[in-house]
Amino acid sequence: MSTQSSTPALSSSSSSIQSEAEALRRNRVLSSKLYFDVPRNKAPIIYSPVYDIAFFGIEKLHPFDSSKWGRICKFLIDNGHLNKNCIVEPEEATKDDLLVVHSEVYLKSLKSSLNVSVIIEVPPVALLPNFLVQKNVLYPFRKQVGGTILAAKLAKERGWAINVGGGFHHCCATKGGGFCVYADISLCIHYAFIRLNISRVMIIDLDAHQGNGHEKDFSGDSRVYILDMYNPDIYPFDYEARGYINQKVEVRSGTSTNDYLMKLDAALKVAGSMFDPELLIYNAGTDILDGDPLGKLKVSPDGIASRDEKVFRFARENSVPLVMVTSGGYMKSSAKVIADSLVNLSKKCLVDMGGSP
Ligand SMILES: [Zn+2]
Repeated sequence: MSTQSSTPALSSSSSSIQSEAEALRRNRVLSSKLYFDVPRNKAPIIYSPVYDIAFFGIEKLHPFDSSKWGRICKFLIDNGHLNKNCIVEPEEATKDDLLVVHSEVYLKSLKSSLNVSVIIEVPPVALLPNFLVQKNVLYPFRKQVGGTILAAKLAKERGWAINVGGGFHHCCATKGGGFCVYADISLCIHYAFIRLNISRVMIIDLDAHQGNGHEKDFSGDSRVYILDMYNPDIYPFDYEARGYINQKVEVRSGTSTNDYLMKLDAALKVAGSMFDPELLIYNAGTDILDGDPLGKLKVSPDGIASRDEKVFRFARENSVPLVMVTSGGYMKSSAKVIADSLVNLSKKCLVDMGGSP
């Protein structure tokens, strides 16, 4: 009896807490400076030199090429495919911006260099004073988060937008991991819900690893459809989050380019018939490349270009704005492969980067 009488009171108080949290989130998004008007003479390519992480050589201890973002742009600019003045520089995500998804407790935990070192998997970072970790690691990441969030606004206006960084798909509201400190994809989607009047988002996650961060953040949320194509034999082995994927496509270690692309074709066909998105977030990790020690797949550089082309065509055929983020890709060769793929997209008229090829 006592349970029966207390349940309605409990549920009404929890729903009022929920609506209060939603109102707070709404206010934070509406007062954010991350969305700003981008002049038409700029391309929807977002990057800042701040993205590139380099300090004391410690970054060399991680298998991640921590300056790949700048190198992608340099390849494109040097070859005349991208005009330097057309690149959009994002704002840094502030604490209030991050609180749209993250908890106070989680953000506070980043004031410990040890915690950050565990998330980014670079143990010596634990020994650095936190102000240096903030400046050299967290500030670059917060700039990249600002880039992913802005990309949705630009994509809605132009049809597509590429954040040359971002794609931190292992981080959820309350926990980071696997080099991912902030949940930029989840943040981007919440901003789009509130600022762009969008109510259906599809995430196509083609990084080699499972995107357990956004999966946890949108578990049970019917506004978000997740297609995740990942290698189940590698990190993060998050079986709970696997249960939240709408369309799970597992590609095991050693999968060849042909097999990979065939699976992708079939997956996109199914996704298109299952869900009608108003925005597409494409997590375009390049750790599926042959030789990548972490991804363990065998997709060729041309295979990456075909993969990206298929996703861009999918967005165009379904008239959905597309946000691309570059996510994982741990080899020195990744930057060139990404740049070559973007050149291919511009040749096929799927993107116009404002250069003069
Ligand atoms: Zn990955």
